[in-house]
Amino acid sequence: MSGPQITIDLSRIERNAKAVVKRCAQSGIQVFGVTKGTCGMPQVARAMLRGGVVGIAESRFENIRRLRDSGIQCPIMLLRSPPLSRAEEVVRTVEISLQSELTIIRELARIAERLGRVHDIILMIDLGDLREGIWPNELLPTIEKILEMRGVRVAGVGTNLTCFGAIVPTRENLSQLEAHAYKVERLTGLRLDWVSGGNSSSLPLLLAGGMPKGINNLRIGEAILQGGRDTFLEQPWEELDCDAFRLSGELLEVKTKPSMPIGKSGVDAFGQKPYFTDEGDRLRGIANIGREDVMVEGMTPINPGVRVLGASSDHLVLDLTDAKPPLQVGDRVDFRLNYGAMLAVMTSEYVEKAPMHDAEVTPTQKRAAIISTLESARVLKAQSLTGKLQAIGFEVSNRPSSGAIALFASEDRGIVGEALQWAASEKDEIGLIWIDSHAPHDILKNKLSALKSHLSPENVVLVGLREASAEDATFLKTSRITVFTMVEIDATGIREVMREAIRIASAGTRGIHVSYSPTVTEIPGSIEGSGGITVRETHQVMEAVATSGKMISMDVSPLPATLEPRVGATTTHFILSAFGKRIL
Ligand SMILES: *Cc1c(COP(=O)(O)O)cnc(C)c1O
Repeated sequence: MSGPQITIDLSRIERNAKAVVKRCAQSGIQVFGVTKGTCGMPQVARAMLRGGVVGIAESRFENIRRLRDSGIQCPIMLLRSPPLSRAEEVVRTVEISLQSELTIIRELARIAERLGRVHDIILMIDLGDLREGIWPNELLPTIEKILEMRGVRVAGVGTNLTCFGAIVPTRENLSQLEAHAYKVERLTGLRLDWVSGGNSSSLPLLLAGGMPKGINNLRIGEAILQGGRDTFLEQPWEELDCDAFRLSGELLEVKTKPSMPIGKSGVDAFGQKPYFTDEGDRLRGIANIGREDVMVEGMTPINPGVRVLGASSDHLVLDLTDAKPPLQVGDRVDFRLNYGAMLAVMTSEYVEKAPMHDAEVTPTQKRAAIISTLESARVLKAQSLTGKLQAIGFEVSNRPSSGAIALFASEDRGIVGEALQWAASEKDEIGLIWIDSHAPHDILKNKLSALKSHLSPENVVLVGLREASAEDATFLKTSRITVFTMVEIDATGIREVMREAIRIASAGTRGIHVSYSPTVTEIPGSIEGSGGITVRETHQVMEAVATSGKMISMDVSPLPATLEPRVGATTTHFILSAFGKRIL
């Protein structure tokens, strides 16, 4: 990791979601989890869903596509009215959307009707915050017009507060929403599924017992992601965890300098006139974070004694004089972020996103399970794999069992399906590193769709590709799978490729399945794998996997009985490397 990095603790997000969902349920409120602050990160959506939200709410199509591509199948709510040109995508990709303009609703209706669908909308009412919404006296006339359209259904009414005019949700304004909903039902005969009473900023009213009974939905982002850091300013909600996100950067310069700039003063890089206080000479540091990545005003240093002095596009200037322990060049500095800063960081291309779970306790006993077809079993037996695994401290069985690293072997590449199924049932969210010279699009597509809720294309990495049919190439280009071809391996080196591959496959997952095809490796004097990665490179691949400690299972295929014994022996050594065998 060389640039800034943001770690995202999915377990904390899940716990926050649970707490919010539970409290809301006590008041008859169902929660949609809002992922827009994380650019629709699928791991975050999954954490929210595990926490009990009934659906995900998003404001942008890119994010919705990302969620759908990752197999998120729950109801999705579009939070922002679409441009007219995107009406079809709304009807096709989301179950429900927030709307406030007849022109757009008409277009949605027209397209939905053409597609033979009915699109649900929540009609937004402006209760004074002056962002989106129909003015209350227009509500009934608008609904009457919508009732004439066949392609849309008014599934509810809602409001948004705080975001623009900073108008806080109160019993008064939310009672107005409740009254509007009641009036709509009474005068039009509609049954409204949803009365949607706002975002995180409505939670303090709920906790204080002031939420009107008629409100049955909230759309919550900040309180789940940031634990209400920005929502509960005066009185934090104890149960929520404010530290799910943490930004870290590296110190590039540490020097003692005066605290007043020297020379004729103009304006800074952003056209502002800066002001300084003279504190004499101070120890200052520069970290590799800048305005390109973050809203600097929303950062709070975690390292004790560190102060943020300011920033330009790529330099964060810090006061390190009182840092405890003292910091030097190469050390990392960590920051908490408010919502605005988090949003900027998540949007910056330059910041590495590292979603992770609470560290799991690693079992002290090493266990392996070998599951192989009769044919492959012969190859492994000839190489005494079981004995060799025992020699490096593994207890070996021939049935997959919880907590054991499973090895699947077969003459047929199709075994990868069974292996992934097992890994998914064992760990729920998994990543895949596919080490092979080719990547048949039909197999990959098939497995991804069978494992939709466990394996995201974003966590799939192909290493060693050197042939792709036109269909394979098209599939890979549009699939969010990461590919390292032989060209890239030759250019960057296998070590760096594997570092990236493991990072991507493990991001937000609970473990990695490694699928290895012996045809990817070029074994001198063998017809197998010409033009592929070398024996030494294959060992480096396996050693990187072992060192990461993230492998939960592996498959080796094809491994036919006709395999040359020499190749069988080399392949066995690769397996042992992946299970952690070292030369010394
Ligand atoms: C962003 C947004 C939300 C979520 O707001 P939080 O403060 O993150 O809870 C809810 N509703 C709408 C319409 C939004 O745009």
